[in-house]
Amino acid sequence: MMRYIPTIGLEIHSQLATDTKIFCGCSTEFGAPPNTHSDPVCLGMPGVLPVLNRRVVELAMRMALYTGGEIQPVSTFARKNYFYPDLPKGYQISMFEQPLIRGGHLDVETERGRTRIRFNRIHLEEDAGKLIHGESAGESWFDVNRCGVPLIEMVTEPDFGTVEEVVQFLEKLKEILIFGGVSRGNMEQGNLRVDANISIRPETETKLGTRTEIKNMNSFVNVAAAIRFEIDRQIGLVERGGRVVQETLLYDPLKDSVSSMRSKEEAHDYRYFPEPDLVPVVVDAAWIERIRAELPELRPDMRARFEREYGLPAYDADILTATPAVAAWYEEVIRAGADPKKASNWVMGEVLRVLNETGTDIGEFKIKPGMLAALIKLVGEGVISGSMAKTVFEEMLATGNAPETIIEEKGLRQISDTGALRTVVEKVVADNPDAVEKFRAGKTQLMGFFVGEVMKATRGKANPKEVNTIIRELLA
Ligand code: ADP
Ligand code: MG
Repeated sequence: MMRYIPTIGLEIHSQLATDTKIFCGCSTEFGAPPNTHSDPVCLGMPGVLPVLNRRVVELAMRMALYTGGEIQPVSTFARKNYFYPDLPKGYQISMFEQPLIRGGHLDVETERGRTRIRFNRIHLEEDAGKLIHGESAGESWFDVNRCGVPLIEMVTEPDFGTVEEVVQFLEKLKEILIFGGVSRGNMEQGNLRVDANISIRPETETKLGTRTEIKNMNSFVNVAAAIRFEIDRQIGLVERGGRVVQETLLYDPLKDSVSSMRSKEEAHDYRYFPEPDLVPVVVDAAWIERIRAELPELRPDMRARFEREYGLPAYDADILTATPAVAAWYEEVIRAGADPKKASNWVMGEVLRVLNETGTDIGEFKIKPGMLAALIKLVGEGVISGSMAKTVFEEMLATGNAPETIIEEKGLRQISDTGALRTVVEKVVADNPDAVEKFRAGKTQLMGFFVGEVMKATRGKANPKEVNTIIRELLA
């Protein structure tokens, strides 16, 4: 039987992490009421002029520096013309002949070995508006808020041979986008959208086959399922003597199937031409160096640094760098003077547990890093016991109060005063003559019983180390 080799190339759109749009000062905030973020520029009024948001260029430049792409000294915007109700101007401002970045690559490693995925280009463009199709036929709503939201489009060469390589590449890319502060990478909010180009060829053939393109997938699970489906569909078609035709497809995850959106004959002719309202983007070496100097640390480097600087196990370093926000929060705790390993245990344990259970972002967490550092210090100084610290933590969570305040208010301070503890131990000894006798006869396991009794009597506030010493002394 003939074997077929799949080939895949990706086009990825990612929303850049700016507060304002690419050519005007309107907000990019997600979830705002429809049509509240607009002005004459993103509405496409005649006679207004777009002005490029400098930050957009800088965030894209970071991507080039992370992937080894070449930032072009001069790049230009072009008009991509098409008529559709989501596009008030009747054209999208994009880059065409002179993209901002050429080349670059990311390597993936699967059981097939290491594969280098090359970027063809990375360019800037604006997003279109959003059409919301109503329940009844013929009813559609339009939201202009997304018009002019800044995007980078990243186009790879057809270098992928398997779905596993695609998924790993996308995960790596998303991590770079997020840690690099380039994009918020939130797929549910459309921050990352993937188009996949797919072809197959018999293994005896070197020329790539005719490709189809699956548009606009917004989850990696769907990307993988869609590519698998399309590879199988193309092989089935060719096996039956058919021919793959170049077309644009839409994947339906519910049916696990594709439908044709448009054929090659219906392909748009965008009539690209240079955007006359914008000057070329000119990037000099000094600007690139400024961006390089402030390039955020990526996750692999951060993981290695956490192991090295804080003496953490690889496991801890991995969990603490789950997101840049968690990592930054942890480092704040350290900066506030906490022991790194103790802080790690708290963050990996209690902090992440509460965040998961409540679906809270660490940025909105009621307990601030300084408060956790104070709590860790109080345990270290013996002011409260380790188990009491859990109670204080819960209280901090409920009230937002500082640990010192909670300890004073609730009278949770550990009793380390030997005199006071001795009185309690003496009473426990007097109340339990049988146990005392057995202990003296050699049943030293009863130590736990005595400590327990003292803890009960002090409502858990006795310093266990002190209690141990006193019991041994009294029962010797
Ligand atoms: P166009 O100019 O028509 O947009 P490109 O050559 O820029 O086409 O390719 C668009 C995307 O399709 C790229 O991601 C590229 O890697 C991918 N691609 C090109 N040829 C093939 C092929 N034969 N099989 C699979 N993917 C392909
Ligand atoms: Mg293309």
